[in-house]
Amino acid sequence: MTAAATPYPIGTPGLPWGEAERAQWLSRQVRHRSYASNVVSTIERLAAHLDVSEYGQLDYPPDHYRLFTLRNRGWREGRPIVLVTGGVHGYETSGVHGALLFLERHAQQYAERINLLVAPCVSPWGYERVHRWNAHAIDPNRSFRDDSQAGESAALLQLVAPHRGRFLLHVDLHETTDSDESEFRPAVAARDGKPFQPGVIPDGFYLVDDSENPQPQFQRAVIDAVAKITHIAPADEKNQLIGSDIIAPGIIQYPVRQLGLCTSITGARYTTVTEVYPDSPRTTPEQCNAAQVAAVCAAIDFALGA
Ligand SMILES: [Zn+2]
Repeated sequence: MTAAATPYPIGTPGLPWGEAERAQWLSRQVRHRSYASNVVSTIERLAAHLDVSEYGQLDYPPDHYRLFTLRNRGWREGRPIVLVTGGVHGYETSGVHGALLFLERHAQQYAERINLLVAPCVSPWGYERVHRWNAHAIDPNRSFRDDSQAGESAALLQLVAPHRGRFLLHVDLHETTDSDESEFRPAVAARDGKPFQPGVIPDGFYLVDDSENPQPQFQRAVIDAVAKITHIAPADEKNQLIGSDIIAPGIIQYPVRQLGLCTSITGARYTTVTEVYPDSPRTTPEQCNAAQVAAVCAAIDFALGA
């Protein structure tokens, strides 16, 4: 079926949504899972070995979400800071659980060398609804700007601001899913009153580098580590992934600051966005989490050795 034959069920084609359409969209969102049970409970368990603090709260009445970071004990001025973020897109499950698994398995081994700052679930409302947007139909990962309209992004910006200039590395954990093409890309086109242009979801893992600060050797080191866990996305017939030219196997670039992406917020020399593909018949949720962990470890190892 063509996109024209199946218009998005909310709004009028060609017209951006107003308040009524946003409210209609919100009324269709269903809570599928619990941030408190699946995420906060794990954070509380990790608090036995890591410093947990709150960096904000999101209020979407009747729901309220406390936002948490975890740091290694013995945070010391002068050590490079490594930021790991998960769940900037709440539906991208392995981003959240990969960040928590990394903390559980590997935080200690780096504790003497870096100041580790992890925000495992930046968008808990989206985590619970398995959605890309927040409750105002805003994509947090296009909203990392000074005047951010997304509370998720504003809170993280505020957390990072006092440390800017001291970050060595930022790894932002994401997924690219089949629902991007079936739901979220049509939804954003409808919301903005634009035509939906169908695309192809890559089958495999890839990374997004910053086109304004490219670090090809760093990205390659991460790809090599992840390739031992899960398959890397092959180029399409245009030698692209998701509409962007391939720089090296499994690596594309975006101008992250211009797009308001999360990896623009630290000013770190090394940044990368992981994109795990969870819908492949060739992978499992456990492998997806393991791929995120492998990416974070490889990124830290490279940055410390460089
Ligand atoms: Zn994402």
